Amino acid sequence: MRVLVTNDDGIHAPGLACLEGVAAQVGNDVWTVAPETDQSGVAHSMSLNDPLRLREVGKQRFAVRGTPTDCVLMAVRHVLPEPPDLILSGFNKGQNLAEDITYSGTVAAAIEGTILGITSFALSQAYSFAPDVQPPYETAEALAPDLIRTLADLDVPAETLININFPNRAPGAVEGVRVTRQGRRNIDFLTIDKRSDGRGNPYYWLTYNGRPPQPDVGTDLEAVRAGFVSVTPLSIDMTDHACKAKVSEALGLDPDH
Ligand code: MN
Repeated sequence: MRVLVTNDDGIHAPGLACLEGVAAQVGNDVWTVAPETDQSGVAHSMSLNDPLRLREVGKQRFAVRGTPTDCVLMAVRHVLPEPPDLILSGFNKGQNLAEDITYSGTVAAAIEGTILGITSFALSQAYSFAPDVQPPYETAEALAPDLIRTLADLDVPAETLININFPNRAPGAVEGVRVTRQGRRNIDFLTIDKRSDGRGNPYYWLTYNGRPPQPDVGTDLEAVRAGFVSVTPLSIDMTDHACKAKVSEALGLDPDH
């Protein structure tokens, strides 16, 4: 099996090296195409106003000065001799749960792979987000191979990617695996932190506003907080089918046309 490994934390990220090791356990032809620099939070953006620079950094390892989406496109359309059978994006430094999915470059790389018709998984390792703490990548490393093998054999629908999050625990302390739905954060989770520069002028950081309240049962948030690996199938078809019928009815239109 040919496996493409990518991420959004960049070619030098420890989580990428860890996932490359896992990819070598599940596949026999592993390629890495990852961003030159940290692209966390760039979501599904692609570079249309700047050229893409490709740098070979090792055997079947490449860095692209671009976004995770650029990396997947470069890998599939240019770098690999044949398209991969599987795309693994991660292990992201930090969880990608609830609305994180819409900001995440890690998830976006898997979205791009799915659009290109390739089975794609996003893999993230939860941690405390404390400044001097590294995520326990040994947890993802220990639990990912079996999970990836099982899910890769599943014949996932063409519209679907799988978002996998490993809890912030040692491998032996993980409670198990849960198949979950996308959760919701509290609405004021992201706030603006106003500071002053050396000349007294204001500047701003987006910042996280503490710990969300108890998440809903059955969600990705709840599973990871309770110490489970969360597996969420996501669809690239973002149509709200229930609302489509409601809007059609309000406009006096046939919902099926
Ligand atoms: Mn990241």
